[in-house]
Amino acid sequence: MRKDATAEQIRGVSEAIEARGFKAHPIPGAQRTAIGVTGNKGALDAPVFESLPGVLEVIPVSHAYKLVSREVKTEDSIVKVGDVPVGGRELTIVAGPCAVESMEQTLIVARAIKAAGAHILRGGAFKPRTSPYSFQGLGEEGLRILAEAREATGLPVVTEALDNEGVDLVERYADAIQIGARNMQNFSLLKRAGRAKKPVILKRGMSATLEEFLMSAEYILSEGNYDVILCERGVRTFSDFSRNTLDLAIVPAVKNISHLPILVDPSHGTGRREKVAPLSRASAAVGADGLMIEVHHDPNKALSDGPQSITPDMFAQLVQDLRKIAPVIGRSL
Ligand code: PEP
Ligand code: MN
Repeated sequence: MRKDATAEQIRGVSEAIEARGFKAHPIPGAQRTAIGVTGNKGALDAPVFESLPGVLEVIPVSHAYKLVSREVKTEDSIVKVGDVPVGGRELTIVAGPCAVESMEQTLIVARAIKAAGAHILRGGAFKPRTSPYSFQGLGEEGLRILAEAREATGLPVVTEALDNEGVDLVERYADAIQIGARNMQNFSLLKRAGRAKKPVILKRGMSATLEEFLMSAEYILSEGNYDVILCERGVRTFSDFSRNTLDLAIVPAVKNISHLPILVDPSHGTGRREKVAPLSRASAAVGADGLMIEVHHDPNKALSDGPQSITPDMFAQLVQDLRKIAPVIGRSL
């Protein structure tokens, strides 16, 4: 739309799009609003739309992904989790235990990460475990604990939903919905998350290409939820010294073609406690919008992912180091 297009003109164009049986996605930007069109089979009849009041131009999008693309929105998106912005100048730090184990454990970790400077609390209530005999999470009780930890610390909380019923619950208790690596291509779950009223943190599948990752995000946006934060968490390779290979090169690759913010999770990315801080520093340097880090006050007793969980002391030191790196790369923390 033109810079000076009125709200009424934007509505008029959206209605013209919907009248043809397509879906209109008005995406406000700093300069102007773009209206993404999905659901069309071939090219649009450009002259018809270009003649509508307020329209500047009709741009065919050349990629399979549309709404996540910078062709639809040039400037970086800022997604708010609670009142914490992700994707702006500030480096955002999500931290907390892999799994919510108890009220006491969650509060100890939440208070420690808050004191060290974290912005958002993470913790799994529904855990996707490789073995059905491993701790599966506390379920709704875990969500209640997270909500209490938010009350106690003021930190917004993010937690994973494994299925559609899980989204119903997570949406009710948490400030953001995490979709895990194993579910990155669970398309019915992506569609449900796309109808949620909360932002979504979408983790990269363990063998997902960049295009597959962005197409999964596209599923969520195409349903009308534009608040998506991507998260690189390592991919499977032949490398035998870490749990996964953290693919930091995806950060500038994503930035190049998408306006969505991207976090990096060096905990799952490496699987080893001693590798988390160095890879966190590298993630900040490479341009990630933030980090997701697993912290446990007693990692050797953790019910999930103890070997990759860092202690509150290690986390506090890491945040201090990131504070020194941030200004060098034009960020604040
Ligand atoms: C997690 O964040 O605890 C998790 C299970 O991550 P991923 O889906 O990346 O394995
Ligand atoms: Mn974990």
